[in-house]
Amino acid sequence: MNERDADVVVIGAGVAGLVAASDLVAAGREVVVLEARDRVGGRLLNTEIGGEPNELGGQWIAPYQSEMHALLAELGLESFHAYREGDSLYIDPAGELHRYAADTEPLPATAAADYARAVAKLDALCAELDPEAPWEHPLATELDGITFEQWLAAEVDDTLARDFLRSNMAGGYMTKPADSFSLLGAAATVAGAGSVANLFEPDLCLHSRIVGGSQLIPLRLAERLGDRVVV
Ligand SMILES: Cc1cc2nc3c(=O)[nH]c(=O)nc-3n(C[C@H](O)[C@H](O)[C@H](O)COP(=O)(O)OP(=O)(O)OC[C@H]3O[C@@H](n4cnc5c(N)ncnc54)[C@H](O)[C@@H]3O)c2cc1C
Repeated sequence: MNERDADVVVIGAGVAGLVAASDLVAAGREVVVLEARDRVGGRLLNTEIGGEPNELGGQWIAPYQSEMHALLAELGLESFHAYREGDSLYIDPAGELHRYAADTEPLPATAAADYARAVAKLDALCAELDPEAPWEHPLATELDGITFEQWLAAEVDDTLARDFLRSNMAGGYMTKPADSFSLLGAAATVAGAGSVANLFEPDLCLHSRIVGGSQLIPLRLAERLGDRVVV
């Protein structure tokens, strides 16, 4: 099959493209998936630490991500409860390393109060959003018109509180710089989880990982699609 004979050409062999292609094949369409890189998976990439499978990119699955759990079952993949023993580490803007228990924060009192205020503001905004349709919020255009970094600068005075929230939301959860996504994008993500705290809850967003590594999902999907996937 090449792109000239296909009913549909899917661009990109990440999970989204491969699932779309699988659905189209199931519906009886001729499909070709064209991937720019020399591998499938996009932001899912297996690696290895000490001979054990590990991942760069996406890896955690929440119990409520029912579509993903159904896909794992369909592909014959298993999940395991993510390992969460030990301390968390935070390197502040001055380069100082803070070691702290996962359910606490490493901030001094003033910064902690400012951090809590900012998180409460984000949680309040998220309570107003429908995570399935964040664009329907009456202020969606305005919220989408400022970056998370601009919101941090306007709303969080304390340098350490600002850096810690930036580290958690941008580095830790959105996995991209705070000036590369909007306040609406951040709020929609938090709204999906219910609250900022829930983003890091071991029994919610960070609940399970995949035996053998998350890239097995696109690898198995691509295997099933065979030569319809061109890398
Ligand atoms: C560090 C990190 C941690 C993450 N952690 C989690 C997590 O724990 N849980 C979770 O659910 N999500 C997590 N995510 C998010 C998750 O990985 C992504 O949402 C998901 O993998 C995106 O899949 P996708 O198919 O939409 O896009 P991608 O995986 O980005 O796939 C897009 C594909 O399209 C290809 N492509 C792009 N343009 C072209 C073109 N013009 N022609 C041909 N090919 C093209 C790209 O090379 C890529 O292979 C994380 C992401 C990162 C980066």
